[in-house]
Amino acid sequence: MNIIRNIEEFRKEREKTNKKVGFVPTMGALHEGHLSLIKKAKEENDFVIVSIFVNPAQFLKNEDFSKYPKKEAADIEICRLAGVDILFLPDADKIYQKDEPKVVAPNIRGFVLEGFHRPGHFDGVLTVVLKLLNLAKANNAYFGKKDAQQLILITQMVKNFFIDTNIIPCDTVREKSGLALSSRNVYLSQDDKIKALSLSKSLYKAVSMIQAGDLNSKNIIKEMEKILCEVEVDYVAITDRELNDIEKIELKNTVILVAAKVGTTRLIDNMWI
Ligand code: AMP
Repeated sequence: MNIIRNIEEFRKEREKTNKKVGFVPTMGALHEGHLSLIKKAKEENDFVIVSIFVNPAQFLKNEDFSKYPKKEAADIEICRLAGVDILFLPDADKIYQKDEPKVVAPNIRGFVLEGFHRPGHFDGVLTVVLKLLNLAKANNAYFGKKDAQQLILITQMVKNFFIDTNIIPCDTVREKSGLALSSRNVYLSQDDKIKALSLSKSLYKAVSMIQAGDLNSKNIIKEMEKILCEVEVDYVAITDRELNDIEKIELKNTVILVAAKVGTTRLIDNMWI
């Protein structure tokens, strides 16, 4: 595995391969969720690039940028064992220059849900993803459905900006308990972890209501909110795949999303129906 920190060196190495390239951008502190993306990239491509970059531009002032978990040695080992070809670890001051143009999230889809609660977050996400996609020049790039709105906005940006990379959505990996894996789960105390289960429980409840034939969004949200009573809910929403609220579940076109604070940790989870 080639570990590269320098952008020019990365570009040179990237130019050397004419294989089918899969790319997995991450912020590190890798877990089984990230690994599932890397495995899929390995299966579907001949050359795999993983990036680890904790992107300052997507954190709000009051958020956890400075204490975001860092596990570089373990991450390197995980990537090596997974058969990654290039691990790209750029420095922030090389990715960003002073007074740059940036990508602005779309007015509607970018400003609901996470965009409403974390203003500016998706501008930072889209800007760095555009930079990384331009550097990686991959055939396929892998993103988790766990970050549903991010995935939807990136898919839209790639389409609107005519970027020649396929965006491949990947299923959410969960603990046996149902808790969606997240680098931020390390912040959770034992007590928080039990409370955090209410997010996935509320989503499973929604799925079971839908399976029983109740397609009414209001009914489903009401039942979900009962399960979420011990956490500080930011939103529970039922939308179509373009993030418009919908009154009735549309099979194969719905996302059910929840965001909540558990102790001091903000978690998000969702189900694609
Ligand atoms: P992050 O390091 O949190 O920026 O995540 C990097 C990529 O991994 C993103 O595309 C995430 O959506 C994806 N990801 C994070 N958690 C999971 C998970 N539990 N299952 C699947 N993909 C995930």
